[in-house]
Amino acid sequence: MTIREFKYFPFSLNLKTPFQTSSQIITERNGFIISISDELGSSAYGECSPLPGFSYESINDVERILKGLRYQIIGFSLEENLTAISNLISEFKLVPSIVFALEQAIVSLCAKRNKNFIVEFFGDTNSIIEMNAVIGFDKTDNILTRIEEKVKNGFCTFKLKVGRNNFEDDFNLIKSVREKFGESIKIRLDANGKWNSETVNANLEKLSQFNVQYIEEPCGDLGTLNNLSVTADIPIAIDESISSIEDATKIINNSKIEFIVLKPMVLNGIISSLKLIKDAERKEKNIVISSSFESAVGRSALVLLASATNHSFAHGLDTSEYFERDICKDPYEVKEGKIKFDIENYPPQFDLSRL
Ligand SMILES: [Mg+2]
Repeated sequence: MTIREFKYFPFSLNLKTPFQTSSQIITERNGFIISISDELGSSAYGECSPLPGFSYESINDVERILKGLRYQIIGFSLEENLTAISNLISEFKLVPSIVFALEQAIVSLCAKRNKNFIVEFFGDTNSIIEMNAVIGFDKTDNILTRIEEKVKNGFCTFKLKVGRNNFEDDFNLIKSVREKFGESIKIRLDANGKWNSETVNANLEKLSQFNVQYIEEPCGDLGTLNNLSVTADIPIAIDESISSIEDATKIINNSKIEFIVLKPMVLNGIISSLKLIKDAERKEKNIVISSSFESAVGRSALVLLASATNHSFAHGLDTSEYFERDICKDPYEVKEGKIKFDIENYPPQFDLSRL
């Protein structure tokens, strides 16, 4: 394949409800859609949208790098395999969100040229992908109502945010959820590193009676998380403590942590995420793919990755309701708590006339 054309377009998506990260309040998602065309005249899209507070690069960095890349990448030829794509991309000095976009666009072009490309490199993909519903802080009654609505909509896995100022409030909430819904739903927790190494053991012990599927980041210290993965009765998941693919690889190879929540837009794109999925499988661990609030374009590549995991745990890609309006129709709408994935039709078509 030879790259004949490279274009990029800015986009901005308003969030219905602003969300607070450790450093700022996000009210909109800004990014770029890139478009790459090959010598046959076919083209494909990729998204780069660094997530403020998580990505180390800013949207201004991205714009500056894309400007230069436009002139550098045209005329490059490559073989249609993942190693060749990685090798091409490593020739440029890029940041994770741009690696993501380039990989998405080039993988999509390869899939258009060769019908077997996705099966060959991503393996047997799941055709039904379960989503978790994320439940933030609120009054217990509101949370119970929200879970009830989501159960009616077909969701089975719920991720409850914990780490309230008073641990008893977390405990009582989960107790109420189990009392109301019994074992008909799966519960995950996410403490976002809130508990410290003195309280975390006792908290996990108290919560272990509730049959929790896993808890993300019960404390923010990697050493303690590692210890907990050996001693605690609740499986440990790691999320924001991973800041690089190297970190994730170390956790897969050298720890007992069973679940790794991966944000490919923040970490380093699609090909290295796929490698982690395969590494994790060999170690009997599970990668859970998590959105960074991408548009429908970027999210479609996350759906591909989620479909390539060899487990049936829910993934965290149900984010469309956070946006007032997406940049195009979402080809992977969540219905009854699930996304249907059809490998034959990857990549999906996007109508980007609104951009
Ligand atoms: Mg988390």
